[in-house]
Amino acid sequence: MNTVTSRTTRSTADWQRADAAHFLHPFTDFQSLARKGSRIITRADNIYLWDSEGHKILDAMSGLWCVNVGYGQQALIDAATRQLRELPFYNAFFQTATPPPIELAELLCEVTPPQFNHVFFTGSGSEGNDTVVRMVRRYWDVLGQPQRQVIISRKNAYHGSTMAGASLGGMAAMHAQGGLPIPGIVHIEQPYWYALGRSMSRDDFGRVAARWLEDKILEVGPDKVAAFIGEPVQGAGGVIIPPETYWPEIQRICDQYGILLVSDEVICGFGRTGHWFGCERFGVRPDLMTFAKGVTSGYIPLGGVMVGDRVATVMIEQGGEFEHGYTYSGHPTACAVGVANIRLIRELGLVQHVRDTAGPHLAKLFETLKDHPLVGDAETCGLMGALLLVKNKVTGELFPDEVGIGMVCRGHCFGNGLIMRAVGNRMIMAPPLVMTTAQIDEMGSLIRRCLDLTLEQARREGWM
Ligand code: PMP
Repeated sequence: MNTVTSRTTRSTADWQRADAAHFLHPFTDFQSLARKGSRIITRADNIYLWDSEGHKILDAMSGLWCVNVGYGQQALIDAATRQLRELPFYNAFFQTATPPPIELAELLCEVTPPQFNHVFFTGSGSEGNDTVVRMVRRYWDVLGQPQRQVIISRKNAYHGSTMAGASLGGMAAMHAQGGLPIPGIVHIEQPYWYALGRSMSRDDFGRVAARWLEDKILEVGPDKVAAFIGEPVQGAGGVIIPPETYWPEIQRICDQYGILLVSDEVICGFGRTGHWFGCERFGVRPDLMTFAKGVTSGYIPLGGVMVGDRVATVMIEQGGEFEHGYTYSGHPTACAVGVANIRLIRELGLVQHVRDTAGPHLAKLFETLKDHPLVGDAETCGLMGALLLVKNKVTGELFPDEVGIGMVCRGHCFGNGLIMRAVGNRMIMAPPLVMTTAQIDEMGSLIRRCLDLTLEQARREGWM
């Protein structure tokens, strides 16, 4: 019989054994992880994590793009504790509300662009995007255009892992499992200049890539298209930063055909780009915005959809009952943490810090990393960035997939106290927004060391 031993008496090996025996991890080859053993993270402070062996690790991924205010913020801990004592949960069904979601809704309407005066809460980003699918289709139904069902998204996009979220996403490996995408969701190519447009200037490519949306609208039939959805910067796809010309042209096309524009702000929201929301950085006016992660800095699960006036007016005045919602739509404790988090972002001036100080400092660091023999391209947007690892900087030749150069580099990062993520041959990061310039320099030294170790290994193994 299994006995559950107390936390403090368990060794790393104990944790790994129990983990392998019972815990199925997300996006994981269960068998291979069980053989290898998980890394066990036991505590955190500010931008640092510690594992069960006592190693200190600089978390350049903010957990999973979410711990924007850094670890250990007392205001968030207090907000959760207070709310758990007072009223841990009550639902928002049956004509009832609790104070925290009302307060958070008010605050969200203050920090989002002016067209947003309503919010629908969910438990996660994926549930937010499921809500988007249901809401845009309902919107067109109510307007007497039920044939408008099709949502256009992009290849290599990530919009979550539920049936609708994964369908909206453009990840081929996800579509290959479980019969996705669901009907009525189609994809166009992504605005990835390095891979698809290097024969053109970035600006020309941005316009070309946006017009793939127009081509798709005409192919599907403009009267059948309900909405276009995109991340301002594709995060999980590898921090693909679109050319400046891309989003304005997307806006023009959506306006011309009257289709709804949805900005998935799950990663880009709450200051990541140096603006409150990514759509503001790129100059677009979405009708709907999905958010999650940064709304609570990941301290507790929460997501939602900001509903712009165009959609809200129709849904409220003509829609009748919207047959959709979750147990945790407006969870009081999650929303109380959201309120404390947004207040803290304001108090610390984090959006301005990213725009004026940390973002430009990271950009400068990435500029200097361009001299490294492995780095073919280095780009940032606010406090997220990507380094493209190449075999030959002059020709831009890439390493063959079998080498798995990103995973090799990621291994050196883990081994040297730095968490960066590998997406194919792109090394990506999105560190906590509280990062100081001194901490960015510290991160820069770690990155350079890991790139050097990767280069040494590549030469030793004859990969270049
Ligand atoms: N949209 C985007 C842009 C995301 O990056 C993610 C998660 N990484 C999601 C949606 C899904 O969010 P969740 O994992 O909270 O369901």
